[in-house]
Amino acid sequence: MNIRHQITDLQLVHPFKIARRAVDRFRQVISVELDSGLGETAPAKFYGETVETVQRALEIFDPFLNGNLDAIQAIMDTLESTMRGNYAAKSAIDMALHDRLGKVLGVPLYRLWGLDPDETPCTSFTIGLDEPEMMQQKVREASEYPILKVKLGTSHDLEIIRTLREVTDKPIYVDANTAWTPKEAVRKIRELVPYGIELIEQPTHPDDLEGLKFVREHSELPIIADESVKRATDIPALVGCVDGVNIKLVKCGGLLEAMRIIHVARAHGLQIMIGCMIESSLGITAAAHLTPLVDYADLDGHLLIANDPYSGVRLEAGKLILPNLPGIGVIPRDPSNLEA
Ligand code: MG
Repeated sequence: MNIRHQITDLQLVHPFKIARRAVDRFRQVISVELDSGLGETAPAKFYGETVETVQRALEIFDPFLNGNLDAIQAIMDTLESTMRGNYAAKSAIDMALHDRLGKVLGVPLYRLWGLDPDETPCTSFTIGLDEPEMMQQKVREASEYPILKVKLGTSHDLEIIRTLREVTDKPIYVDANTAWTPKEAVRKIRELVPYGIELIEQPTHPDDLEGLKFVREHSELPIIADESVKRATDIPALVGCVDGVNIKLVKCGGLLEAMRIIHVARAHGLQIMIGCMIESSLGITAAAHLTPLVDYADLDGHLLIANDPYSGVRLEAGKLILPNLPGIGVIPRDPSNLEA
């Protein structure tokens, strides 16, 4: 095998719940090693991928990973023509190729792309669904993070926000994770406006672009697509339906495609958020290198876990501080300190 992989159980600090999914206590990620490059992926069942599908895809892609590993574009094109989909697996490979290339050239990824590391934004910190009092407690525990992202999509969304506003005046992003109907979304957003909400993420069903358009036309808050957008080719159909898109490496297939989405979305006048799954500092730091190009960063997956195997991107008052090391720039933590 050219590519080696390992499955890691990331243990969650708090059980994590969103609108469509029950509570998780741990999430599995797959880390890969290709030559000197490291990559990671966190497959999501919602997008039809699991640890097993990623393992199978890595086996199928392996024979294409023994040539000129500098030619990331050509390799990713080959993988795409070999097997469609499987973007979580492709993302791990793409990430390892970028990490390797940065190490070969001796430069951090942001430098490889000509980006200014001082231009990174602050990341939001996610408050998962729970009893309102427990969500209040999570907000108190998140005192070091200047922006909150609150998961909604319940029968008592307004009550949640009202309760949280008793304990915080920070900017809040709301993510409904597809849970609302278009009319329900318009009504709920109208109720939420007085509570100082910055934006609404994926209010309605991912395939219902007309529904998104209806919500956007009847709401005064920016609407950001997440589940409705995976690849750059999804962007043109979303124009007029949303104000921005949320990019995730495991949805789109890696850094190369993420960069493509950023440029296509900008060409269509859309805002950019870069988000994540529950991932270690490896996957989060890779995505963080793109953040000088985005409007909103939601890169908190590594902050939600108790046994992060790597250190990489840091936060200073919420602002993402990129490591000045070649490639992605993560360092393995001492395993003896990892017992959660
Ligand atoms: Mg989302």
